[in-house]
Amino acid sequence: MHELSIAQSIVQLAEQQARKHQASEIEELELEIGSLAGVELQTLMFALESSVKGTMLERARIVRHDIAGEARCGDCEAVFPVETLFSPCPQCGSYYVKIVRGKELKVKSIVVKSKNKE
Ligand SMILES: [Zn+2]
Repeated sequence: MHELSIAQSIVQLAEQQARKHQASEIEELELEIGSLAGVELQTLMFALESSVKGTMLERARIVRHDIAGEARCGDCEAVFPVETLFSPCPQCGSYYVKIVRGKELKVKSIVVKSKNKE
């Protein structure tokens, strides 16, 4: 399953970051997921829930930012919202459009609990 491997790499990435900061636990994980990223959101969140078990992310709060798709027409420069990767420009009908937003799929930030605190 595509989403499961994405979930696992998100967990790996977050743990790598946490280790860099000598953290023992991750309190919050912030994700940016574009509507054009090609993932099934519910499946991904479900996969994440199972992937965090036994990791530093086990008790982390997951904050998700959904990013709507947006494209710019290469012919008339119009910027418009898109729901699929291959949408024509609504203004001039051109297919020469460039996706400017919505393909994001990344860990935006993590909040870690430091070992030295408490
Ligand atoms: Zn156009």
